[in-house]
Amino acid sequence: MFKRLLNECVIDLTLRPEGALLIKSGLAQMSGVDMAWVKVPRNGGWEVYLPGSSLKGTIRSHAERIARTLNESAACNPLGGRRDKLRSCGSALDVMNRDKKETELTTPLVYQHSCPICRLFGNTWIMGRLATEDAYVMGDAPALQHRDGVGIDRFTGGASRGAKFELEVITGGEFKTALHLQNFELWQLGLLGFVLQDLREGLVRMGSGKSRGLGKVVAQIDKITLHYIGARKKMLEDDHLNLMGVGALFEQAKDYGMASDDQVRLEKAAAVKEESAFSELRQTVSFSFDAFPWQAVAAKWVNYVQTLPSDPLKQYRSGR
Ligand SMILES: [Zn+2]
Repeated sequence: MFKRLLNECVIDLTLRPEGALLIKSGLAQMSGVDMAWVKVPRNGGWEVYLPGSSLKGTIRSHAERIARTLNESAACNPLGGRRDKLRSCGSALDVMNRDKKETELTTPLVYQHSCPICRLFGNTWIMGRLATEDAYVMGDAPALQHRDGVGIDRFTGGASRGAKFELEVITGGEFKTALHLQNFELWQLGLLGFVLQDLREGLVRMGSGKSRGLGKVVAQIDKITLHYIGARKKMLEDDHLNLMGVGALFEQAKDYGMASDDQVRLEKAAAVKEESAFSELRQTVSFSFDAFPWQAVAAKWVNYVQTLPSDPLKQYRSGR
C-alpha cells in the first residue's frame, strides 16, 4: 500500500515544560549524574532535546487511554502476557503466523487484524502512520538543574534506605517539533486531535519520574497543514472543503478494511488560513488549530471506535 504517499497532515508544535522534566539518556555519563538528560551536539555545544521516539511513545500511551474509555478492546496491551485477553497484536500475529502456515500475513491482512491503536502507531508487523521529529530547543533555553532523587523501594513503594541518587532535570525553555501523519484515515486524525487537545491543556506527562511529579509539558499547536498528492478531487471546491482520508484516495482501501466513504464535505467558512500553490499533483492547505474542522474528524473517530467489529485476533491473543 503505503509505498505511495496519498495524504499527509503535518502538525507544527511548540512544547513548553512546566516544572521539571527528565528524558533519560541511555548512555553512561562522565558528569557522574545517575540520571542525565539526552543531549545532541548543536550550535557548537551539547544541547538537551526531546527525542521523537519519546514523544511518539507519550502520544501512543495517551491515545491508548482515550481509546479504552470509549471501547475496552480498542487498544491492545503492549505488555500483556499470555493470559491477557488483550495481549499485544504483535504477539497475537506471531501465534497466528505459527498456526496458519498456509496463510501469508500480507500488509492488508495485518492492518485489518490489528487493533486501532496499532493501525495508527504500528507494531512488530506493520509500520505506523505517525512519525515524530526530534524536538530541539528554539527561543528560550531551558535551565539544567541537578536534584537529589530518593530510590523507591520496589516492594513497599516507600523510600529505600541508602539509595540516593542524582537526577538531571530541566525547567522552562521551548522545544519545536513536527508530527507527520501519513496515508491516514480520517478517524486516525480524529483520535490524534483528542491527544493534541489534552497536550494543549497540559494533561499529558512525558519522560521519567511522572510519579514524582515530573514531566508536565504544555503544547502550543502552531500550524496544521494538509497535503493531498495526486487526488482527483479538489481539497477546496467552490465554498467547500473536501476532507479526504486514505480510504477515499486509495484503490485497494477495501483490502485493508478501510471505509470507502472516508471523506467529509464541509463549508469552507473562514477555516482556511493559507493556501499554498495548487498543482495537479499536490494540493496544500494550512489551518490554525482553532480553525481546523476537528469536530468532523472527531465524529469519524468516535463512530469508528464504537462500531468496531469483533476482534479478528481474539483466538490468538490468550491461552497459548
Ligand atoms: Zn494492537
